Amino acid sequence: MAFEGLSTRLQNVFGKLKGRGKVTEDDVNDAMREVRLAMLEADVNFKVVKDFIAKVKEKALGQEVVKSFTPAMVIIDIVNKELTELMGGTQSKLAKANKPPTVILMAGLQGAGKTTLTGKLAKLLQSQSHKPLLVAGDIYRPAAIKQLQVLGGQIDVPVFTLGDQVSPVEIAKKGVQQAKDQGHDYVLIDTAGRLQIDAELMQEIKDIHTAVNPDEVLLVVDAMTGQEAVNVAQSFHEQLALTGVVLTKLDGDTRGGAALSVKAVTGCPIKFASTGERIDQLEAFHPDRMASRILG
Ligand code: GDP
Repeated sequence: MAFEGLSTRLQNVFGKLKGRGKVTEDDVNDAMREVRLAMLEADVNFKVVKDFIAKVKEKALGQEVVKSFTPAMVIIDIVNKELTELMGGTQSKLAKANKPPTVILMAGLQGAGKTTLTGKLAKLLQSQSHKPLLVAGDIYRPAAIKQLQVLGGQIDVPVFTLGDQVSPVEIAKKGVQQAKDQGHDYVLIDTAGRLQIDAELMQEIKDIHTAVNPDEVLLVVDAMTGQEAVNVAQSFHEQLALTGVVLTKLDGDTRGGAALSVKAVTGCPIKFASTGERIDQLEAFHPDRMASRILG
Protein backbone atom coordinates (compact mmCIF):
# COMPACT_ATOMS: atom_id res chain seq x y z
CA MET A 1 0.00 0.00 0.00
CA ALA A 2 1.06 3.60 -0.59
CA PHE A 3 2.81 5.53 2.18
CA GLU A 4 4.25 2.52 3.95
CA GLY A 5 7.79 3.88 3.98
CA LEU A 6 6.75 7.34 5.09
CA SER A 7 4.42 5.94 7.68
CA THR A 8 7.08 3.71 9.23
CA ARG A 9 9.61 6.51 9.36
CA LEU A 10 7.26 9.00 10.95
CA GLN A 11 6.17 6.45 13.52
CA ASN A 12 9.83 5.92 14.42
CA VAL A 13 10.43 9.63 14.85
CA PHE A 14 7.41 10.05 17.10
CA GLY A 15 8.09 6.80 18.93
CA LYS A 16 11.43 8.25 20.03
CA LEU A 17 9.78 11.47 21.20
CA LYS A 18 7.12 9.59 23.11
CA GLY A 19 9.83 7.83 25.08
CA ARG A 20 10.83 11.12 26.67
CA GLY A 21 9.18 12.92 29.53
CA LYS A 22 10.22 16.41 28.63
CA VAL A 23 10.82 17.67 25.12
CA THR A 24 13.36 20.42 24.53
CA GLU A 25 13.61 22.76 21.60
CA ASP A 26 16.53 20.67 20.34
CA ASP A 27 14.37 17.54 20.44
CA VAL A 28 11.74 19.28 18.33
CA ASN A 29 14.37 20.46 15.86
CA ASP A 30 15.85 16.97 15.60
CA ALA A 31 12.43 15.41 15.09
CA MET A 32 11.54 17.96 12.41
CA ARG A 33 14.78 17.29 10.60
CA GLU A 34 13.83 13.62 10.46
CA VAL A 35 10.27 14.38 9.36
CA ARG A 36 11.68 16.56 6.61
CA LEU A 37 13.95 13.76 5.36
CA ALA A 38 11.13 11.23 5.53
CA MET A 39 8.90 13.46 3.43
CA LEU A 40 11.59 14.16 0.86
CA GLU A 41 12.27 10.45 0.59
CA ALA A 42 8.55 9.87 0.07
CA ASP A 43 8.95 12.13 -2.96
CA VAL A 44 7.01 15.08 -1.60
CA ASN A 45 7.71 18.28 -3.48
CA PHE A 46 10.69 20.16 -1.99
CA LYS A 47 8.90 23.46 -1.48
CA VAL A 48 5.85 21.73 -0.02
CA VAL A 49 8.11 20.03 2.55
CA LYS A 50 9.81 23.31 3.43
CA ASP A 51 6.54 25.12 4.08
CA PHE A 52 5.13 22.17 5.96
CA ILE A 53 8.11 21.90 8.34
CA ALA A 54 8.09 25.66 8.93
CA LYS A 55 4.43 25.58 9.95
CA VAL A 56 4.79 22.57 12.21
CA LYS A 57 7.90 24.00 13.88
CA GLU A 58 6.25 27.33 14.52
CA LYS A 59 3.38 25.63 16.31
CA ALA A 60 5.46 22.97 18.05
CA LEU A 61 7.87 25.48 19.53
CA GLY A 62 5.01 27.49 20.96
CA GLN A 63 3.98 27.56 24.60
CA GLU A 64 1.49 24.73 24.22
CA VAL A 65 4.11 22.03 23.78
CA VAL A 66 6.51 23.24 26.43
CA LYS A 67 3.78 23.31 29.07
CA SER A 68 2.27 20.00 28.10
CA PHE A 69 2.71 16.82 30.15
CA THR A 70 2.58 14.80 26.95
CA PRO A 71 4.63 16.92 24.53
CA ALA A 72 5.06 14.14 21.96
CA MET A 73 1.30 13.74 21.67
CA VAL A 74 0.89 17.47 21.16
CA ILE A 75 3.48 17.42 18.37
CA ILE A 76 1.86 14.41 16.70
CA ASP A 77 -1.43 16.23 16.86
CA ILE A 78 0.09 19.30 15.20
CA VAL A 79 1.63 17.16 12.45
CA ASN A 80 -1.67 15.35 11.95
CA LYS A 81 -3.55 18.62 11.54
CA GLU A 82 -0.97 20.07 9.15
CA LEU A 83 -0.89 16.87 7.06
CA THR A 84 -4.68 17.02 6.83
CA GLU A 85 -4.52 20.66 5.74
CA LEU A 86 -1.82 19.85 3.21
CA MET A 87 -4.10 17.32 1.55
CA GLY A 88 -7.01 19.73 1.44
CA GLY A 89 -8.45 19.86 4.94
CA THR A 90 -11.95 18.60 4.52
CA GLN A 91 -13.32 16.13 2.01
CA SER A 92 -14.20 17.75 -1.29
CA LYS A 93 -17.40 16.41 -2.81
CA LEU A 94 -18.28 15.81 -6.42
CA ALA A 95 -20.02 18.76 -8.10
CA LYS A 96 -23.73 18.64 -8.69
CA ALA A 97 -25.37 20.80 -11.35
CA ASN A 98 -28.36 22.89 -10.33
CA LYS A 99 -30.10 21.58 -13.36
CA PRO A 100 -29.25 17.97 -14.31
CA PRO A 101 -27.37 16.44 -15.91
CA THR A 102 -24.11 17.09 -14.06
CA VAL A 103 -21.39 16.89 -16.70
CA ILE A 104 -18.05 15.41 -15.66
CA LEU A 105 -15.05 15.57 -17.98
CA MET A 106 -12.13 13.20 -17.44
CA ALA A 107 -8.64 14.42 -18.27
CA GLY A 108 -5.21 12.87 -17.94
CA LEU A 109 -2.36 11.07 -19.60
CA GLN A 110 -2.73 7.72 -21.29
CA GLY A 111 -2.57 4.86 -18.84
CA ALA A 112 -3.40 7.05 -15.83
CA GLY A 113 -6.64 5.13 -15.37
CA LYS A 114 -9.26 7.44 -16.93
CA THR A 115 -11.38 4.79 -18.58
CA THR A 116 -11.26 2.60 -15.48
CA LEU A 117 -12.22 5.57 -13.31
CA THR A 118 -15.13 6.45 -15.58
CA GLY A 119 -16.57 2.99 -14.91
CA LYS A 120 -15.80 3.16 -11.20
CA LEU A 121 -17.40 6.54 -10.76
CA ALA A 122 -20.49 5.38 -12.62
CA LYS A 123 -20.78 2.45 -10.24
CA LEU A 124 -20.42 4.73 -7.23
CA LEU A 125 -23.06 7.14 -8.54
CA GLN A 126 -25.36 4.27 -9.35
CA SER A 127 -25.05 2.99 -5.78
CA GLN A 128 -26.24 6.44 -4.68
CA SER A 129 -29.35 6.03 -6.85
CA HIS A 130 -28.10 8.23 -9.68
CA LYS A 131 -28.55 7.41 -13.31
CA PRO A 132 -25.24 7.99 -15.11
CA LEU A 133 -24.49 7.88 -18.81
CA LEU A 134 -20.96 7.12 -20.03
CA VAL A 135 -19.63 8.83 -23.14
CA ALA A 136 -16.84 7.19 -25.13
CA GLY A 137 -14.76 10.20 -26.16
CA ASP A 138 -11.41 8.44 -26.51
CA ILE A 139 -11.39 7.61 -30.20
CA TYR A 140 -7.63 7.20 -30.55
CA ARG A 141 -6.57 4.45 -28.19
CA PRO A 142 -7.46 1.15 -29.79
CA ALA A 143 -10.01 -0.67 -27.66
CA ALA A 144 -10.83 2.32 -25.41
CA ILE A 145 -14.44 2.35 -26.62
CA LYS A 146 -14.75 -1.39 -26.15
CA GLN A 147 -13.17 -1.14 -22.68
CA LEU A 148 -15.78 1.43 -21.65
CA GLN A 149 -18.56 -0.72 -23.08
CA VAL A 150 -17.35 -3.71 -21.11
CA LEU A 151 -17.25 -1.62 -17.92
CA GLY A 152 -20.71 -0.22 -18.61
CA GLY A 153 -21.98 -3.74 -19.31
CA GLN A 154 -20.65 -4.98 -15.95
CA ILE A 155 -22.69 -2.42 -14.03
CA ASP A 156 -25.58 -2.06 -16.43
CA VAL A 157 -24.87 1.58 -17.27
CA PRO A 158 -25.35 2.65 -20.90
CA VAL A 159 -22.44 3.89 -22.99
CA PHE A 160 -22.90 6.54 -25.65
CA THR A 161 -20.58 6.09 -28.63
CA LEU A 162 -20.43 7.29 -32.21
CA GLY A 163 -17.48 5.05 -33.07
CA ASP A 164 -14.02 6.38 -33.82
CA GLN A 165 -14.68 8.37 -36.98
CA VAL A 166 -16.54 11.28 -35.40
CA SER A 167 -14.76 14.10 -33.55
CA PRO A 168 -14.67 13.83 -29.75
CA VAL A 169 -16.22 17.31 -29.51
CA GLU A 170 -19.23 16.11 -31.48
CA ILE A 171 -19.43 12.89 -29.45
CA ALA A 172 -19.36 14.83 -26.17
CA LYS A 173 -22.06 17.27 -27.31
CA LYS A 174 -24.34 14.54 -28.58
CA GLY A 175 -23.70 12.45 -25.48
CA VAL A 176 -24.83 15.27 -23.21
CA GLN A 177 -27.90 15.77 -25.39
CA GLN A 178 -28.72 12.09 -25.11
CA ALA A 179 -28.40 12.27 -21.33
CA LYS A 180 -30.89 15.15 -21.29
CA ASP A 181 -33.28 13.35 -23.61
CA GLN A 182 -33.14 10.12 -21.62
CA GLY A 183 -33.24 11.59 -18.14
CA HIS A 184 -29.70 10.78 -16.95
CA ASP A 185 -28.57 12.96 -14.06
CA TYR A 186 -24.81 12.45 -14.59
CA VAL A 187 -22.76 12.31 -17.79
CA LEU A 188 -19.20 11.02 -17.54
CA ILE A 189 -17.09 11.83 -20.57
CA ASP A 190 -13.98 9.72 -21.12
CA THR A 191 -11.33 11.48 -23.19
CA ALA A 192 -8.14 10.57 -24.98
CA GLY A 193 -4.80 10.76 -23.25
CA ARG A 194 -1.35 10.81 -24.77
CA LEU A 195 1.93 9.56 -23.44
CA GLN A 196 2.84 13.08 -22.50
CA ILE A 197 1.24 16.46 -22.59
CA ASP A 198 1.00 17.70 -26.15
CA ALA A 199 -0.60 20.73 -27.69
CA GLU A 200 -3.02 18.83 -29.88
CA LEU A 201 -4.39 16.83 -26.96
CA MET A 202 -4.83 19.98 -24.90
CA GLN A 203 -6.62 21.78 -27.69
CA GLU A 204 -9.00 18.90 -28.17
CA ILE A 205 -9.97 18.67 -24.53
CA LYS A 206 -10.31 22.45 -24.36
CA ASP A 207 -12.68 22.29 -27.32
CA ILE A 208 -14.72 19.59 -25.56
CA HIS A 209 -14.74 21.78 -22.46
CA THR A 210 -16.08 24.75 -24.42
CA ALA A 211 -18.69 22.59 -26.13
CA VAL A 212 -20.17 20.96 -23.03
CA ASN A 213 -19.26 23.40 -20.23
CA PRO A 214 -18.67 20.69 -17.61
CA ASP A 215 -19.55 21.06 -13.94
CA GLU A 216 -16.54 19.02 -12.98
CA VAL A 217 -13.19 18.51 -14.69
CA LEU A 218 -11.39 15.65 -13.02
CA LEU A 219 -7.72 15.12 -13.65
CA VAL A 220 -6.80 11.47 -13.29
CA VAL A 221 -3.21 11.08 -12.13
CA ASP A 222 -1.17 7.98 -11.55
CA ALA A 223 0.21 8.25 -8.02
CA MET A 224 3.01 5.85 -8.97
CA THR A 225 4.62 8.54 -11.12
CA GLY A 226 5.61 10.60 -8.08
CA GLN A 227 6.84 14.13 -8.78
CA GLU A 228 5.82 13.77 -12.41
CA ALA A 229 2.21 13.49 -11.26
CA VAL A 230 2.52 16.96 -9.77
CA ASN A 231 4.04 18.40 -12.95
CA VAL A 232 1.27 16.85 -15.01
CA ALA A 233 -1.37 18.26 -12.68
CA GLN A 234 0.17 21.71 -12.85
CA SER A 235 0.30 21.73 -16.66
CA PHE A 236 -3.27 20.54 -17.00
CA HIS A 237 -4.45 23.03 -14.43
CA GLU A 238 -2.82 25.93 -16.28
CA GLN A 239 -4.59 25.01 -19.49
CA LEU A 240 -7.87 23.64 -18.30
CA ALA A 241 -9.63 24.84 -15.19
CA LEU A 242 -9.55 21.62 -13.21
CA THR A 243 -12.04 21.21 -10.40
CA GLY A 244 -10.58 18.10 -8.86
CA VAL A 245 -7.92 15.43 -8.96
CA VAL A 246 -8.30 11.67 -8.71
CA LEU A 247 -5.23 9.73 -7.61
CA THR A 248 -5.04 6.25 -9.04
CA LYS A 249 -2.91 3.22 -8.22
CA LEU A 250 -2.62 4.08 -4.56
CA ASP A 251 -2.62 0.32 -3.99
CA GLY A 252 0.85 0.08 -5.51
CA ASP A 253 4.03 0.68 -3.54
CA THR A 254 4.00 4.36 -4.41
CA ARG A 255 5.90 6.53 -1.96
CA GLY A 256 2.91 8.82 -1.65
CA GLY A 257 4.59 12.12 -2.47
CA ALA A 258 2.05 12.87 -5.19
CA ALA A 259 -0.86 12.66 -2.78
CA LEU A 260 0.92 14.97 -0.40
CA SER A 261 1.98 17.56 -2.98
CA VAL A 262 -0.69 17.77 -5.63
CA LYS A 263 -3.21 19.82 -3.64
CA ALA A 264 -0.58 22.18 -2.25
CA VAL A 265 0.98 22.81 -5.65
CA THR A 266 -2.14 23.13 -7.79
CA GLY A 267 -4.77 24.20 -5.26
CA CYS A 268 -7.03 21.49 -6.72
CA PRO A 269 -8.71 19.22 -4.22
CA ILE A 270 -8.17 15.47 -4.39
CA LYS A 271 -11.68 14.08 -4.66
CA PHE A 272 -11.17 10.35 -5.02
CA ALA A 273 -8.55 7.68 -4.54
CA SER A 274 -8.44 4.61 -6.73
CA THR A 275 -6.96 1.60 -5.01
CA GLY A 276 -7.08 -1.28 -7.47
CA GLU A 277 -8.16 -2.54 -10.86
CA ARG A 278 -11.57 -3.80 -9.75
CA ILE A 279 -14.55 -1.60 -10.50
CA ASP A 280 -15.48 -1.24 -6.83
CA GLN A 281 -12.01 -0.10 -5.75
CA LEU A 282 -12.69 3.62 -5.52
CA GLU A 283 -12.94 5.72 -2.36
CA ALA A 284 -13.81 9.30 -1.61
CA PHE A 285 -10.57 10.97 -0.54
CA HIS A 286 -10.65 12.03 3.11
CA PRO A 287 -7.57 14.13 4.00
CA ASP A 288 -8.04 13.53 7.75
CA ARG A 289 -8.29 9.76 7.40
CA MET A 290 -5.28 9.68 5.10
CA ALA A 291 -3.24 11.74 7.59
CA SER A 292 -4.21 9.43 10.45
CA ARG A 293 -3.35 6.41 8.36
CA ILE A 294 0.10 7.82 7.61
CA LEU A 295 0.76 8.60 11.26
CA GLY A 296 -0.44 5.14 12.31
P1 GDP B 1 -6.47 5.38 -19.47
O1 GDP B 1 -5.52 5.24 -20.62
O2 GDP B 1 -6.18 6.62 -18.68
O3 GDP B 1 -7.91 5.29 -19.86
O4 GDP B 1 -6.14 4.17 -18.47
P2 GDP B 1 -6.94 2.82 -18.16
O5 GDP B 1 -8.20 3.10 -17.45
O6 GDP B 1 -7.00 1.97 -19.36
O7 GDP B 1 -5.95 2.16 -17.07
C1 GDP B 1 -4.61 1.77 -17.41
C2 GDP B 1 -4.23 0.54 -16.58
O8 GDP B 1 -4.18 0.88 -15.19
C3 GDP B 1 -5.23 -0.58 -16.69
O9 GDP B 1 -4.53 -1.80 -16.75
C4 GDP B 1 -6.03 -0.51 -15.39
O10 GDP B 1 -6.55 -1.74 -14.99
C5 GDP B 1 -4.98 0.00 -14.43
N1 GDP B 1 -5.52 0.74 -13.28
C6 GDP B 1 -6.39 1.79 -13.28
N2 GDP B 1 -6.63 2.24 -12.03
C7 GDP B 1 -5.89 1.46 -11.19
C8 GDP B 1 -5.68 1.42 -9.76
O11 GDP B 1 -6.22 2.21 -8.97
N3 GDP B 1 -4.83 0.46 -9.30
C9 GDP B 1 -4.20 -0.42 -10.13
N4 GDP B 1 -3.39 -1.30 -9.58
N5 GDP B 1 -4.35 -0.40 -11.46
C10 GDP B 1 -5.18 0.51 -11.99
